[in-house]
Amino acid sequence: MAQPTGKKDYKRHMPLNRLRNIGIIAHIDAGKTTTSERILYYTGKSYKIGEVHEGAAVMDWMAQEQERGITIVSAATTTFWTPQVVPSQALFPEEHRFNIIDTPGHVDFTAEVERSLRVLDGGVTVLDAEEGVQSQSETVWRQADKYKVPRICFVNKMDKIGADFFATVKDVEDKLGVRTAILTLPIGKENTFKGVVLLLEKKTVIYSEEELGAKYEVKDEIPEDLKAQFEEERAKLIEKICENDENLLERYLAGEEISVKELKQGLRKAVLSYDLVPIICGSSLKNKSVQILLDAVVDYLPSPLDLPPVKGTDPNDETKEIVREPKTDGPLTMLAFKIQTDPHVGRLSYVRIYSGVLRSGSYIYNVNKDSKERVGRLLLMHANNREEITEAYAGEIVAIIGLKETITGDTLCEDGDKIILEKISFAEPVISLAIEPKTKSDQEKMGIALKKLSEEDPTFKISSNEETGQTVISGMGELHLEILVDRMKREFNVEANTGKPQVAYKETIKIEATAEGKYIRQSGGRGQYGHCLLRVTPKKRGEGYEFKNEVKGGAIPREYIAPIEKGVKEAMENGVLAGYQLVDMEVTVYDGTYHEVDSSEMAFKIAGSMALQAAVRKAEMTLLEPIMKLEVSVPDEFMGDVIGDLSAKRAQILGTNSRGNTRIITSFVPLAEMSSYATILRSMTQGRGNFVLLPSHYDEVPKNIIEQIVSERGKNTKTE
Ligand code: GDP
Repeated sequence: MAQPTGKKDYKRHMPLNRLRNIGIIAHIDAGKTTTSERILYYTGKSYKIGEVHEGAAVMDWMAQEQERGITIVSAATTTFWTPQVVPSQALFPEEHRFNIIDTPGHVDFTAEVERSLRVLDGGVTVLDAEEGVQSQSETVWRQADKYKVPRICFVNKMDKIGADFFATVKDVEDKLGVRTAILTLPIGKENTFKGVVLLLEKKTVIYSEEELGAKYEVKDEIPEDLKAQFEEERAKLIEKICENDENLLERYLAGEEISVKELKQGLRKAVLSYDLVPIICGSSLKNKSVQILLDAVVDYLPSPLDLPPVKGTDPNDETKEIVREPKTDGPLTMLAFKIQTDPHVGRLSYVRIYSGVLRSGSYIYNVNKDSKERVGRLLLMHANNREEITEAYAGEIVAIIGLKETITGDTLCEDGDKIILEKISFAEPVISLAIEPKTKSDQEKMGIALKKLSEEDPTFKISSNEETGQTVISGMGELHLEILVDRMKREFNVEANTGKPQVAYKETIKIEATAEGKYIRQSGGRGQYGHCLLRVTPKKRGEGYEFKNEVKGGAIPREYIAPIEKGVKEAMENGVLAGYQLVDMEVTVYDGTYHEVDSSEMAFKIAGSMALQAAVRKAEMTLLEPIMKLEVSVPDEFMGDVIGDLSAKRAQILGTNSRGNTRIITSFVPLAEMSSYATILRSMTQGRGNFVLLPSHYDEVPKNIIEQIVSERGKNTKTE
């Protein structure tokens, strides 16, 4: 087993308890980029800060992100931080190393969010103090719940007109259903916001200037006008912390004074057990509270040691669970969570090391591909430079140059000690469009470019339309595909024409049915013999597909079951009603016959495919369409028009809320009705409306529309 060797640079060998792998999560425009920038600035990496609107943000590496002002690509950035605001009360006063994993703000890029959540240990959720909890924050919050990521909330933009800290805290409690631990009280409001009171430490932090790097002053006195509120909120906070810890609760009830550090320890425990979410207010743009936030990351967010060891299974026996502790002397275990093509160094594979030591020049084993890969060079990515290293350890996140076959979600480990970690789950694409190169001779180049882009992004898929021979790309939304086409032009020099975006429908069944598939050719010479009986049963929405074998008494020999499933899967992939993928059903093979000589895997595969097609035709087929959650915010006077238009779009209005003069209308609406909605809303509201569209679920398409779709696809006439 590998042990760290080489030069003892203490920063490189920082103990695991001094590592924080964190991600900054936010609704678009809440201030994630600005906050990330400030963090990089204050953590002392020397680089020139650029305001977001100047398009020079460091984390936004790619040109089109800068143009659009959004972050698409997860980059992992390494920085260092020593708690500084009230160091005497810091739980861990030493220097810490942060790996900041960038997560995108736009929900079209859920794949990016999912993959980053999988590898980070703690999250900072940035909220807009005027807008409160917006729909993307809600969505990402739920995703983070799924990955059990402890979080802190940063209520940003306290300097903005309309900012309301306590309304936002209430929003967090109501919408996200969590218990909050308010750590700061704002001093001043909107453009007079000048600092905060630290409730636990009983200190006042005042920023007299707004400039980047402006000094702040820490005082013992609480401002007179905040004293009553301070007492009240501090008591509430202490009560919440103590409620969560029996020992503290007993002492609290006995009226004992509990020290700040003990309270912090109690809060840390509650954050790590997902019982409390600390909330801090500030303004990244005006450089307020960023240091407080960084101190809180050290105090309350987990190190790799605080989390349960990663679990996987034995690739040779899926029932055998394997646990890997975060130790450098454990067997190497890594997850590739991001592939990025870098213009200077080529293909970068970002990995999270869960256990062991990774060395440049070594060979590692890719479990998913069953192949060996050579680790060329290892890089640590800083905000403005890349540092070449020779070794990386458990708990770290690094980039590898040299891996050829590895894609997002693959497990990498030692050849002699194999493990497979759970794959990263990605949403299925909801929209697709036909694409062709502007110049015919670019066909091959386009193929290569698309392949590279799809390797980077698992929610971006390429296929070809069997009838027309056209290349079709699919993704999570119009913007997602637009950006990929744009990247193809910039990075690969291929210009393309694209067709109209098409919604990715799915097919399913409504009742149970059975049918048989017979593929028998027995005229002279060696024949073909495959015969099976299948039952198809509907499953609930989103439950996917399951295959069962109930064949008894060897009616079909075991070795032909897998080929039958292969045939079933192929048929489901191609669809039956209108050529869309079949989903949400259980397929059971329960009987069949075989022939000693003529049976083959191929014959059973064809029989499986035929049986499936026959069975689903008898099972009341229907189409499912992606339904989006739409949140439109408009000034009051446009509300009637917007709702009227939504009703015409088959929307189901879920509710309306007010925030100041703005009305927020939430609805479910079919994606098929949403093309060019940006333009429609703009003209309907004189440019004053905003909206957010998130994939929500699939639902049945109304009957009359199914007929239209099916006849357009012209596939329903296909009979055997
Ligand atoms: P992102 O989309 O979440 O990355 O948000 P950005 O960091 O790009 O910020 C969106 C907009 O909000 C930009 O115009 C920022 O200048 C602005 N912004 C960010 N933080 C603050 C803040 O603390 N106060 C105010 N007033 N504006 C802010």
